[in-house]
Amino acid sequence: MAIYVKSDNTFEQAESVSRECPHCGAHAQLIPIATPSFEAIRSASPRQVGIAFRCAACNEPRFGRAAVRSIGTASVELSSNIIEVERARQRFPYSYLPPAVERIFREALQCYSADCHNAFASMCRRTVQTAIADLGSNARLEWFELYKDVVNIGEIDEATAQVLETVLFGVDGPVPEIGTDHAAVLVEMIKDMAYQCYVRTSKLRAAMRMRRYFAEEASGKITSLDRHRAESA
Ligand SMILES: [Zn+2]
Repeated sequence: MAIYVKSDNTFEQAESVSRECPHCGAHAQLIPIATPSFEAIRSASPRQVGIAFRCAACNEPRFGRAAVRSIGTASVELSSNIIEVERARQRFPYSYLPPAVERIFREALQCYSADCHNAFASMCRRTVQTAIADLGSNARLEWFELYKDVVNIGEIDEATAQVLETVLFGVDGPVPEIGTDHAAVLVEMIKDMAYQCYVRTSKLRAAMRMRRYFAEEASGKITSLDRHRAESA
């Protein structure tokens, strides 16, 4: 389904386009707000044009490019394949990670968002190595268990699991080359592993501390002054 810019500069888009928004994270419609002028396209004959949209969910601007298919006297035909200039960022509660792991992991997810899949794979191996260095001697085994969990729960096929195991835990060889498919599995895998290792652990411990605190308070083991201190901490 093509997009048309008519000679009176009206913009005809037969089908609406929805994409994940890099600002609000919603899968929302792109509403065109600034479209290329018919005369400008006719005089410059560009191969591609830029279109500004707004996100239907949060109203933030979104920018896209579309290929020019044909330039006629009544209308210009554009490809409906809108290539977004700004990519959706991967979300993660980074504040739970130790600073060294956070720095590497942020960069890893930025590589994924930029479609640099092999850079992403290398940064995933570094993320695992940094987490293991941070956590100490048993951490390698723990991270391997997290990896096996994702393979089982996600029902990842053996060939893919093998490649991703080498990406994450390989020690005596380079990181294998990966493509879009492997990267798509790897991004969910590494996010889940980091979540289970750091976020789940600290949320669970904090929740248990609070439960025990209130249980002790109810049984009269601590005074209200202690409670005031705990709440302001
Ligand atoms: Zn949005």
